[in-house]
Amino acid sequence: MTSVATLGSHCSLQVLKGAKDEGLKTILICEKKRERLYKRFPFIDEFIMVDSFKELLDQKCQIILEQNDAVLIPHGTLIAQMSSEEIESIKTPVFGNKWILRWESDRTMKENLMREAGLPVPKPVNNPNEIENLVIVKRQGAAGGKGYFMASSEKEYHAKREQLIKDGTISNDETLYIQEYAAGVLAYLQFFYSPLREELEFFGVDQRHESDIEGLARIPSNTQLTMDKVPSFNVIGNSPLVLRESLLEQAYTMGDDFVQASNRLVKPGMNGPFCIEGVYDENAKFTSFEFSARIVAGTNIYMDGSPYYSLLYGESLSMGRRIAREIKIARNTGKLDKITT
Ligand code: AMP
Repeated sequence: MTSVATLGSHCSLQVLKGAKDEGLKTILICEKKRERLYKRFPFIDEFIMVDSFKELLDQKCQIILEQNDAVLIPHGTLIAQMSSEEIESIKTPVFGNKWILRWESDRTMKENLMREAGLPVPKPVNNPNEIENLVIVKRQGAAGGKGYFMASSEKEYHAKREQLIKDGTISNDETLYIQEYAAGVLAYLQFFYSPLREELEFFGVDQRHESDIEGLARIPSNTQLTMDKVPSFNVIGNSPLVLRESLLEQAYTMGDDFVQASNRLVKPGMNGPFCIEGVYDENAKFTSFEFSARIVAGTNIYMDGSPYYSLLYGESLSMGRRIAREIKIARNTGKLDKITT
């Protein structure tokens, strides 16, 4: 019997509930410290208890997954806690393309893929002494925006970097990535590409709420000026956004271009869920600063189904359930190898 497995964090509840609703067995790889939380949810059939998620790589864990014919759904926690080499070494079939996750984690590869897709990316700044406009300074990997900061000059860059090193947020030898700050309305565009249907589906849009950059807006500017704390972009949660309908066509075009570029650069391409992340400026021009090549936690806001999926499918489908349905169809038609790596 095919089952769906994932790490207990990020969007695991949505993924396993969706799998259960599609009649698949559900398995949670669960840290012991979170057992009490996840045992509250009735749709999780089996728990694999671990001290650390890295135990997913151990033979013991892989054997249980193999015995259950499991498909592993990768999400942000897998990327944050494991190296690309470790992810690529997973023996359990991984939903989507595990090779593209390296392109998500590595800033240079990420930029290359975005350029190949023709996405309008913010200008990278190669050296702090080239800072001319407002920039955002990022860390490597899926750090969730923690330790990111903004600067308008080389002097400000060094002062803030020093401060973050001093309070232990970043390390001294960490390579930071600088790009121009794009101002506008945040929009994280969520898609699903089905290699079975050979079709791109637009799922929805979310906004991230990030602390404490958002908290700043609640403080009067004269008080802000007296503060020396460096605000971070740590994601706290997400909320839904609906785009002007006239922006949908461009969203689909960006998604299609991204799927095609991925297919050229990293076989078997961008299969399954992904997200293009950016901002719309005052002319509704989109600038994209990121992508996620797997399910994003922002889809959790549509656990009862996304509005666009109601239009496409005439029923309530979460991203978790969409994934499970793809697995079910692939299994029933002997095409599991088309949707996993
Ligand atoms: P990221 O890790 O690239 O997704 O960035 C985390 C957060 O930083 C995003 O959700 C945005 O709020 C912000 N951000 C990242 N890059 C930019 C940019 N170039 N311009 C404006 N905001 C950005």
